[in-house]
Amino acid sequence: MGTHVGESAGALDALWYEPRDESSPEHDAATAIPHVIAWNLTRRCNLACAHCYISAGSWHAQDEELGTNECRRVIDQILETSPSPLLILSGGEPLVREDLEDIARYATAGGATVVVGTNGTGLTDDRISSLMRAGVQGVALSIDSLDARYHDRFRHGEGALEDTLAAVDRLGEHGLDFLVQFTITKGNRDELDAIVAFADEKGAVCVNVYFLVETGRGEGMHGLGPDGNDEVLRRLTELQREYRGRVMIRSKCQPQLMRHVYERDAESPLLHYRTRCPCGVQYCRITPDGKVTPCPYMPEVAGDLGARSFGEIWRESKVFKLLREGDVGGKCGRCEYRAICGGCRARAHAIDGDFLAEDPDCAYEPAVGVATPVRPARAITYGDAPTSRLAWDAEAEARLAAIPSFVRGVVAGRVEKYASEAGYERVTLDVMREVRETMPVDFSKKVPFFARGRRGAQTRRH
Ligand code: SF4
Ligand code: SF4
Ligand code: SF4
Repeated sequence: MGTHVGESAGALDALWYEPRDESSPEHDAATAIPHVIAWNLTRRCNLACAHCYISAGSWHAQDEELGTNECRRVIDQILETSPSPLLILSGGEPLVREDLEDIARYATAGGATVVVGTNGTGLTDDRISSLMRAGVQGVALSIDSLDARYHDRFRHGEGALEDTLAAVDRLGEHGLDFLVQFTITKGNRDELDAIVAFADEKGAVCVNVYFLVETGRGEGMHGLGPDGNDEVLRRLTELQREYRGRVMIRSKCQPQLMRHVYERDAESPLLHYRTRCPCGVQYCRITPDGKVTPCPYMPEVAGDLGARSFGEIWRESKVFKLLREGDVGGKCGRCEYRAICGGCRARAHAIDGDFLAEDPDCAYEPAVGVATPVRPARAITYGDAPTSRLAWDAEAEARLAAIPSFVRGVVAGRVEKYASEAGYERVTLDVMREVRETMPVDFSKKVPFFARGRRGAQTRRH
């Protein structure tokens, strides 16, 4: 299922809505909450892509993985630390796990928003229905090329593109949100526009373009290099403007997009999002055998769930503390874009062995001397805790509680602003419906899972 960054990280981490005072690392230590967790449930996969960060394949054994009950125990621990996280269930190929739906159902019932990162080849009608019944809110699919010769060769799977494209149509028919993601390489860079147009036409909520991190099977592979990356980022800046209101377009593992957006598109909604690397602050990854790492592309182990609880690892691990409190080095440490970019920590680790080193894949050369960090022109609101000024009906409050924690504050703020301006004294479900219809944002035509609250979830504890 993956781009090297895999559908795992990729999945719905389109959504870094978490702002913070980037100039004050101590702030992270106090407020770090794992709002988004990528969970590689297995290393088994029916494909064997050249760039796979987790070196997945059909030869891995099931007994290398946490079992269903162990997964439930970990979910309980996650929910104690972060009551309504976004949980990205990925792999390897997570559809090979027969208990995927059990895990998704359990997490959903506990309060998580669950999405699945898959290569899509196993998404039959029955499987889509069963995922939806289990409460899964969205799916991330990898499409590296619209040319089967490239996609199938890259993914080492004959017929893989055909199967994944059929899955795209099925997802549309079932009404399950999906995003399209792929790793940009010399072989498919000319297809960037075509893949974005395809995703838009098919109704994807988001396109994530990944840039190679040399880890896993991607070690030894070469990306586009700093100048090649920069060229793609310039085009992505144009595309995210062109497609605004229809499909959200992001770079992944290449936060340098924000330098271009900041310089060329002051009105971009991307400037509302948390765009700096979130690993260890709002984000982490769990490996199939229960190790916790900062992100799927960073193998540095913060702790083992066989020995310590998720909460202990999140709060106390040295790796996470360093990511929250340590100073980023080299040119990233002095760069004026460090607050909105900061470089990819996984790439620094893959190339220099030091996740606090500068991101060596960036073309930008900041001036000598530590610059004052630039900030987006508009106030960032995503990630704020909800603050209520109006009374909320119980049903409206329950609807709000079903929205993932990383966007709940901003949704509450929008609802209250709308209600006040429209002269309502209470927030009701009807008011929330009206707000959805008037959302002036990136998703004006459709409301993706993360903004509408969990659908059909039987809540266990909340
Ligand atoms: S080998 Fe499987 S898990 Fe790895 S990137 Fe390819 S589809 Fe995803
Ligand atoms: S030098 Fe670092 S912080 Fe500045 S734009 Fe490049 S990667 Fe981002
Ligand atoms: S280290 Fe940060 S920027 Fe890089 S892939 Fe991981 S989460 Fe993304």
